[in-house]
Amino acid sequence: MKIAIMALLFTKRNMYINTRHSTKIVKNLTYSACKLFYFMLYFCIVSPLLISCQTKTTPTPMNHNYFENLSPEEKRVIVDKGTEAPFTGEYDNFYEAGIFVCRACGSHLYDSSDKFDAGCGWPAFDTVKDGAIKKTSDFDLGYERTEITCAKCDGHLGHVFVGENLTPENTRHCVNSISVRFIADEKLKKATFAAGCFWGVEELFRTLKGVYSTDVGYIGGHTKNPTYKEVCYENTMHAEAVEVVYDPTQISFDELIQLFWENHNPTTLNRQGPDVGTQYRSAVFFHDSEQEDIAKRTKDELDKSDKFSQSIVTEIVPAQTFYRAEEYHQEYLFKRGKGSCGI
Ligand SMILES: [Zn+2]
Repeated sequence: MKIAIMALLFTKRNMYINTRHSTKIVKNLTYSACKLFYFMLYFCIVSPLLISCQTKTTPTPMNHNYFENLSPEEKRVIVDKGTEAPFTGEYDNFYEAGIFVCRACGSHLYDSSDKFDAGCGWPAFDTVKDGAIKKTSDFDLGYERTEITCAKCDGHLGHVFVGENLTPENTRHCVNSISVRFIADEKLKKATFAAGCFWGVEELFRTLKGVYSTDVGYIGGHTKNPTYKEVCYENTMHAEAVEVVYDPTQISFDELIQLFWENHNPTTLNRQGPDVGTQYRSAVFFHDSEQEDIAKRTKDELDKSDKFSQSIVTEIVPAQTFYRAEEYHQEYLFKRGKGSCGI
């Protein structure tokens, strides 16, 4: 009996040991399965999510919110690489002094001093700020063109063309008005002088330190948007003039007007040398009372000096609308390698 009981106990103990051993194996297996599950969970679900999140939070140009506040028409051009109709953009025929920034991200792209009239119906610039744009090949029209986009936000600007010989830079950045925004340079001022053929007068001022830009055009007459032919052969009363945009902290109106007095004959009525007609009259078109005072004072001083035997006939009148002349008149002598009209 005792032996039977011992045998029974031994068997139970073994059974107990086996049970414990089996439980341990099951626990180990469960633990391994859990590890495998979490391992798979991490690599199949969590890891891709993390990578995906990292990708989404990395700022890449075209998914940045630079474009979220654009109007549908702005998006059509800037994001979807559309084109505004020619001669419709707000900056096509626009020559105020300041800078042009990307409409989407505000990056400084062009200066107004580099803007010219290409006659194509879109704003044209012959120089761009260093590193401001990116160029890529574009075959949308079946032939290769060079698309230009903002380097900061990748917004579409237009195309760039070279070799057209429109300006000395020989480059035309053809830009949609809607892709850019103009910011006026408040520190710059304008001075407008008429002193005969505007080609030579522009060259007097064009390269002076403190002069931001010069444009030749027509002012003081009674017709709108006059052409050179109309000014020459019709009684428009417009004068050939130069609009000088300058930084008064670098060059004063006093200095500019001294150059004006010294480089033409202000005593010949409606005439400079062989050029005869009201379009060649001597005139100062002042933009504020300070310019008016300086113009009148310096005219009086010159009249009282013995420089001229006859009285000065220069008009000193308020500036009216300045009509920028045809592009081929702009920087005319510079483009042709001449320093003066040679008249
Ligand atoms: Zn931009």
